[in-house]
Amino acid sequence: SNTILKVEKLKKSFELSNGFFEKKKIIQAVSDVSFEIQKGETFSLVGESGCGKSTTGRLISRLLEPTEGSIWIDGMEVSNKKESQLKQMRQSVQMIFQDPYASLNPRMKVKEIIAEPLIIHTNLSTSERQKKVLEILEVVGLSEYHAERYAHEFSGGQRQRIGIARALIMKPQLIIADEPVSALDVSIQSQILNLLKDLQREYGISYLFISHDLSVVEHISDNIGVMYLGAIVESGPKDNVFANPQHPYTKALLSSVPVANPRLRKEKIILKGDIPSPKNPPSGCTFHTRCPFAMDVCKKEKPKRQQLQEENHFASCHLLDQ
Ligand code: SF4
Ligand code: MG
Repeated sequence: SNTILKVEKLKKSFELSNGFFEKKKIIQAVSDVSFEIQKGETFSLVGESGCGKSTTGRLISRLLEPTEGSIWIDGMEVSNKKESQLKQMRQSVQMIFQDPYASLNPRMKVKEIIAEPLIIHTNLSTSERQKKVLEILEVVGLSEYHAERYAHEFSGGQRQRIGIARALIMKPQLIIADEPVSALDVSIQSQILNLLKDLQREYGISYLFISHDLSVVEHISDNIGVMYLGAIVESGPKDNVFANPQHPYTKALLSSVPVANPRLRKEKIILKGDIPSPKNPPSGCTFHTRCPFAMDVCKKEKPKRQQLQEENHFASCHLLDQ
């Protein structure tokens, strides 16, 4: 099959307890997430902070256990497997994080940071590991010079290259990149995005790209999913969603992004209020407290996910019933 990742009805709830006598509160961090990524493609999850996109990434990489739902990686269901059965998956799925500095060990030389996955997952000798580290450094645009130094000696962009090299050394099929360029200057952002694209072309890697920034997502994605309060409210091919957004939340997000092409410029949609707490999500459509188009039905009934005219374009909104 050509599908590298399939996620179905993923849910994650956390229990919060504030003290012995208080009633436990449940937070639904992820309540309804389904999507697929094809081999060699990029699927981006977008949404404001706290919408559950990072939690989704952590569920897929099994840094967190899902409460419900299924995750298939290259045809194998991993959501029901124990840690001891995840060896293969631990190699073929790698992560890149927003702040490479925080995710890189400050006491290790760059060459040790990059070689660490090889030590965990392979029996290669020290010299074989060294050879692979030098190869991968070159692939990400670094050199032997960087190998012998410490991550803190480098700029944010170079540190992200180190993080990418570390993710790449196991030749993963899927990389989950959680806000990988959000901490970088715009000019450095595009260098890193171009590097990720080049690596995709060269090695056929798939990305799950997590970002709050639609202009970044536009640059890198084949398909996108827009998340609000733990659920994907609209998903589809990037070009369709950008040109023809159907969910009011997607429209609002897109209307706040500067667009060069005047034909694609959207009427500005201003959202009311703040994102509600996931501890106490609104009834019906969870977006109704902020939606400028909300109707009576929106407070009572959760809208169903509907397929739109374009292939693989879905949205969940009562306006589509009319
Ligand atoms: Fe707005 Fe209603 Fe659609 Fe929700 S279902 S996005 S409240 S119109
Ligand atoms: Mg996050």
